[in-house]
Amino acid sequence: MSPDSQSSAEAAAAVAPQPAADGAPTVPTLQEGAHPFRFTITARCPHTRARCGCFHTPHGPVHTPRFMPVGTAATVKGVAIPQLADTGAEMVLANTYHLHLQPGEAVVAEAGGLHRFMGWQGPLLTDSGGFQVFSLGAINRIDDDGVVFRSPRDGARITLTPERSMAIQMALGADVAMAFDQCPPYPASEADVAAACRRTHAWLERCVVAHDRPGQALFGIVQGGCYPALRAESARVVAGFDLPGIAVGGVSVGEPVEEMHRIMRQVGPLLPEAKPHYLMGVGSLREMAIAVAQGFDLFDCVLPTRLGRHGTALVGGERWNLRNARFRHDHTPLDPTCPCLACRLHSRAYLHHLIRSEEMLGRTLLSLHNLSTLLRFTRAMGQAIAEGCFAEDFAPWEPASPAAHTW
Ligand SMILES: [Zn+2]
Repeated sequence: MSPDSQSSAEAAAAVAPQPAADGAPTVPTLQEGAHPFRFTITARCPHTRARCGCFHTPHGPVHTPRFMPVGTAATVKGVAIPQLADTGAEMVLANTYHLHLQPGEAVVAEAGGLHRFMGWQGPLLTDSGGFQVFSLGAINRIDDDGVVFRSPRDGARITLTPERSMAIQMALGADVAMAFDQCPPYPASEADVAAACRRTHAWLERCVVAHDRPGQALFGIVQGGCYPALRAESARVVAGFDLPGIAVGGVSVGEPVEEMHRIMRQVGPLLPEAKPHYLMGVGSLREMAIAVAQGFDLFDCVLPTRLGRHGTALVGGERWNLRNARFRHDHTPLDPTCPCLACRLHSRAYLHHLIRSEEMLGRTLLSLHNLSTLLRFTRAMGQAIAEGCFAEDFAPWEPASPAAHTW
């Protein structure tokens, strides 16, 4: 069965209004014995490690491979919920760090959880806050207990520990919570990355103990930087926790792209086959295809919306700056092959005009187009896997690919 055949109807159903329950916080009730987070693999590529499948969550299925739009502050910037559903999005991310600072998890819980608060009834995933603390926060102290940092909003002292991250994520109530990890910067010495790995593994154990919310899955995160022995050890330790999903972090943090490919090729085959594999922070077409060939299933990246807000469109694997004068008299669709709102209704000349005039709509339309492009690309990979032509169409660089032998 093609992953495409189900997704539109299910995405539409996923955003249909849900009956209210007197404003009471909703914790999905589980049928006895039913595991809400089953991952079923529906087809495999005979030449690579690519597979397509379905990750079942209490708020609907996520057909893999699939790109996940990032809704940092419980909004995919500039995109309204029905438009988001129109892109083919299934699981959407939100950031624990940002939501803890504003509006605070108590407000979200009061609304009945993140799905109700933001109006997205499809699957949601929250990150642990760790990546933002290490990359954005003014860190005062980091030790084995956790991290103390100053809020960039008001300078308040905030402590984030594995237990605190779990408590915040349980209050937010996404379908998937991420373990609190330490993501070392690039470059970092082997000793520093080894220390971050030890801490990440100890924190994962504390997350597992602290996490206690029915209807919410916890994913562990493999670290290890660019050091193969540390990556292998981290994959072994994190897989040992037997959680409903496993993520690989610490990629796309500034390392050369060849290094990123090497990590995907090394770590992909080390992940437990039966679990969904989430490659964090990666969302370019070529990198997603290389990762899918190594058995990765889920991806996220802020790039499509960030580029859209700055007037850049992803077309045919290129980045087009719509400010460019060459679009002024171009009355053809942005990408004639794209079914998104921007491409269905508008011309390059109109989008150029909106971006030049700094109209909000221009940023929204380009964000929608960029999201649609990445989602369409991951759906197309799934379809190719199901039809047995993934290696030929998407992975010609893989030694086992039939396409490789035609070169
Ligand atoms: Zn489009």
